Amino acid sequence: MRGREPVAEPLPYAEVTDDGYATRVAETFSVRRYGPAVLLSGDCPRCQHPITCPIVGEVYRREASQAPVDPGYRTLLCSCAADHPTRPDGLAGCGAYWTVTLEVES
Ligand SMILES: [Zn+2]
Ligand SMILES: [Zn+2]
Repeated sequence: MRGREPVAEPLPYAEVTDDGYATRVAETFSVRRYGPAVLLSGDCPRCQHPITCPIVGEVYRREASQAPVDPGYRTLLCSCAADHPTRPDGLAGCGAYWTVTLEVES
């Protein structure tokens, strides 16, 4: 197993996930309310660039009788502003994605 080395070259874009991503995000990201949304801020678990992921909580604002069953989780994508080689036009981030479980009080 290799140790964690400083990244000397930009990571290529890759749509990948890893069980460790969500764990790292849960441990290191800060969470704050932002109007109807929740902002998760921290460093991407793959590329280490700072990112902010808004999660719009419209599900929480609906009447209970109309609310679909909220799965309780959201899939987040890395949205860093840094360059990652081979990234398709129009996309942001390094391609990493992970799922977070919402524990936000409505
Ligand atoms: Zn990045
Ligand atoms: Zn990233």
